[in-house]
Amino acid sequence: MHLPTHFFLSWAVAEVKPLSFRDRWLVAMTGIAPDLDGLGIIQGVESFQKWHHTFGHALPSGICILTIAILLSKQKSLVPWLCLGTYYLHILCDFFGSGGPEGSSWPILFFWPVSDVAYYSPYQWELNSPINITITILAILALIFLGARRERTPMELFSKSLDQKIVEVFKRWTPNWR
Ligand SMILES: [Zn+2]
Repeated sequence: MHLPTHFFLSWAVAEVKPLSFRDRWLVAMTGIAPDLDGLGIIQGVESFQKWHHTFGHALPSGICILTIAILLSKQKSLVPWLCLGTYYLHILCDFFGSGGPEGSSWPILFFWPVSDVAYYSPYQWELNSPINITITILAILALIFLGARRERTPMELFSKSLDQKIVEVFKRWTPNWR
């Protein structure tokens, strides 16, 4: 799936319970961390296609990401589990929702570099399919609802004042949701 969709879904998971700033960003960032292997796009499409869905989406890096989350989290009884959730939600979303055009399938090399076996989903749908668009819209609605309820949005990372202005808009949009 596209990176923004992964982020919106991870943010929704991070806001399931009221968490500290550090903990909710740990949960949210764990949900997009697998796509670090997509940074090959900087070198070009060929590099991107060679490396994307390899080391970032594999079990060893998942263990590393979760270890970092366990070490850095404040609420250790909950946050590592939420990180586990966002990490595997990302893998599942890609496994099912990252198909290429004209029926081509994009596998995940889950045990890379130990094994080069590529795992293909028999039910994979296209990256730009209506299913992914629907999931993205639902995740954005969750972000709006949670923004009004928790009184914060991902904008908090960049500007507290702009974040609060967005929260006020979300509250006006959702007078009966909270
Ligand atoms: Zn991914």
